[in-house]
Amino acid sequence: MSAQLIDGKVVAKAVKEDVRNRVEALKARGIRPGLATVLVGDDPASHVYVRNKQRTCEDLGMHTVGHELPATTSQEDLLALIQRLNLDRAIHGILVQLPLPKPLRSEPILNALSPDKDIDGLHPFNMGKLMMGEPRFVPCTPAGVMAMLDYYKLPIEGKTAVVVGRSNLVGKPAALLLMHRHATVTICHSKTVDLPAVCRRADILVAAMGKARFVRAEMVKEGAVVIDVGINREADGKLVGDVDFEAVAAKAAWITPVPGGVGPMTIAMLMRNTMLAASTT
Ligand code: NDP
Repeated sequence: MSAQLIDGKVVAKAVKEDVRNRVEALKARGIRPGLATVLVGDDPASHVYVRNKQRTCEDLGMHTVGHELPATTSQEDLLALIQRLNLDRAIHGILVQLPLPKPLRSEPILNALSPDKDIDGLHPFNMGKLMMGEPRFVPCTPAGVMAMLDYYKLPIEGKTAVVVGRSNLVGKPAALLLMHRHATVTICHSKTVDLPAVCRRADILVAAMGKARFVRAEMVKEGAVVIDVGINREADGKLVGDVDFEAVAAKAAWITPVPGGVGPMTIAMLMRNTMLAASTT
């Protein structure tokens, strides 16, 4: 391997230490940041994610309140809970664990969140602020990608960036953040013609498609920075990204591993957003 590793665990630790210090300062002013988690149904993976978020929150000195609701919860009851949490002064951030079980619809729930407590950055107000280049709460995974580039002082301005994936959660916000930092950005998706040729132009390549090992060495420019957002589980249970790590690492200058790359950043940025929500109350 010739590429240097962008170590998400190291960067996430630095972000969390900063959050811990800033939480201490807030507490000295009588503010204890509070996160409410809302988990509907019994998806085991969602339970693990929520528990990790709660534990990290408490480890950093913040306060958490967990709301676990049965899969049979109605849209109205869920909305009523969100409205209560919007008014709760001890709660600064509200996390609704997605996906919601069917037939619940996530869009009306996300729209009902107070934009001031929308620490996942998924409310249309916060999405709009991001689009205008005045971000308030930025979705945690793309925010984590930017934090990694900055930690390793990898230049962004003037670079050609290609983002593969156009979801509201990852691809679109990642492209906007890179553009606001003056990269020249191309967004690719499943209808992109000759994806390998587009990817080969990238100085910074962000893979966020959810297709195991899809990005092969011949799709990557020599010396590129490769950020692998994908999390895919293979038949043998192994976790892999969207990038064929070994082959691409031989060609890239910098690369994120999976696991241990973008994954740890997502939770660290959620903690940061919760702390920031409390700092502006
Ligand atoms: P979505 O399924 O919402 O979006 C996937 C995107 O990839 C779509 O825009 C889709 O295009 C595009 N795509 C799919 N196949 C291809 C292809 N063959 N060629 C080009 N583009 C393609 O996924 P998310 O954005 O939510 O997540 C992406 C990946 O990131 C997943 O593996 C997910 O698990 C992971 N993830 C990781 C996180 C972390 O913490 N590390 C957090 C969130 C997500 P189209 O729009 O045309 O359908």
